[in-house]
Amino acid sequence: VDTLVTAARGGGVGPASPVRREEPWPNDPYSKGSEVGGRYRSLRALLAGEISAESVVATLKDSGLRGMGGAGFPTGQKWSLVAGAQPGTVKYAICNADESEPGTFKDRQILAEQPHLVLEGLLLGMAVVGAEQGWVFIRHEYGPEEHVLREEISALREAGVIGPDAYGSGRRLELDIFVSPGGYILGEETALLECMEGHRGEPRNKPPFPGNYGLHGRPTLINSVETFADVPVILQRGADWWQAQGIGESVGWKFFAVSGHVTNPGVYCVPMGTTVRELIDTAGGVLNGAPVGAVQPGGASSNFIGPDRLDLRLDFASLAEAGTMLGSGALVVLAEGTDLLAASTNVLRFFRNESCGKCVPCRVGSTKAHTLLSGVLDSRSELDDAGRGKILQLEEAMRKTSICGLGQVALGPVVSVLGLAKGGAAARPHPKPDGAKDQPDR
Ligand code: NAD
Ligand code: SF4
Repeated sequence: VDTLVTAARGGGVGPASPVRREEPWPNDPYSKGSEVGGRYRSLRALLAGEISAESVVATLKDSGLRGMGGAGFPTGQKWSLVAGAQPGTVKYAICNADESEPGTFKDRQILAEQPHLVLEGLLLGMAVVGAEQGWVFIRHEYGPEEHVLREEISALREAGVIGPDAYGSGRRLELDIFVSPGGYILGEETALLECMEGHRGEPRNKPPFPGNYGLHGRPTLINSVETFADVPVILQRGADWWQAQGIGESVGWKFFAVSGHVTNPGVYCVPMGTTVRELIDTAGGVLNGAPVGAVQPGGASSNFIGPDRLDLRLDFASLAEAGTMLGSGALVVLAEGTDLLAASTNVLRFFRNESCGKCVPCRVGSTKAHTLLSGVLDSRSELDDAGRGKILQLEEAMRKTSICGLGQVALGPVVSVLGLAKGGAAARPHPKPDGAKDQPDR
């Protein structure tokens, strides 16, 4: 696996990250053993009856672990809901590794470096909810990471950790990988399910949530890569340890992909509650020592914050209070002087392109807004009051009537930039120079 990780890094995972090292997370001790049996300790204990499914759920609830895919749903609560759903029926578990948000690449590094934690978390989830079959649904561009996972799954099968008699428990636990055919929207959990069922990848209306009505209508446990990877660490170290890791009221550790105008872009694991400023400093500060212009603290779907908010804590509550979100765990830093309207229109273009088209407000609204804004950018003019009004109307309609997160947040970053402009910072301090072009549309 070590060799493969090195290969994976060469394949584009990015610079070796200066991940803060803390035993056992993120550099857990059982990643050092070459024996499969030296890891997967909590799974073995659960299958041997040394710990119960109820105690696993209780530990997760006590730890306060929340979904790291972005929405922050309490993990212990989700596991207990799926465990209790439709007793006696077939259930499934899926690790969502379809990480596709621009600027978001932290799951990729976790998969490459600590696949055993992700798979142990998934297997623990399967054993707790009563699923025999689990999948990792992986983004198709993550070929090197898929290879690492396949190697790990083979090793597990060979060692008897999975198979018809997992760890000699008499229980069947099987793992497989489902490679996403491509498309950002497939990372939305219900579009993912539709895709796995062989249908067009469009989100379903929720509720019902997958925990009740998931793959083929069966209760399905879906968590992200980072959430599953946190589980075995919490079970080894205890709920109190996890509670004590964050800063202030914040709980646990958090992986962030840091990109944009920073000296050392990469993946960093920091205590939850670290401030935006501290994380930028950890990534070597803004490129060439420039002042910060604006930051997206939670990936492309999150609203921009201005340089006056750098002491904001990176946790679910603080960012929501500040009108943005922790989101996909991606901090995008833009230096002062960046054309923020152009940057946010670029984000909108991504969402317009990736809209599945199922609902009219998202399909039509994102196109209308993008046409209006790119007209402003192309003519190197300013957005006038009428244009601003139209954008605000479209944003409200899309936020209130789109059925999934893509349409609901697509115009948020643009509107947040307009808000920054109102607050004093120019939205277009440096309009595009003559001859500068956007990237070609797909
Ligand atoms: P959501 O709030 O609808 O659901 C979050 C999770 O909790 C889901 O698994 C859902 O099934 C479950 N859930 C919610 N309420 C429930 C209930 N009452 N009963 C049972 N289960 C319940 O959010 P979402 O639309 O799934 O995810 C949105 C997040 O995804 C955003 O925060 C965004 O940042 C993030 N995101 C991440 C990426 C990425 O690449 N990592 C890309 C796009 C979006
Ligand atoms: Fe598809 Fe957009 Fe509707 Fe989501 S909001 S289901 S992406 S059209």
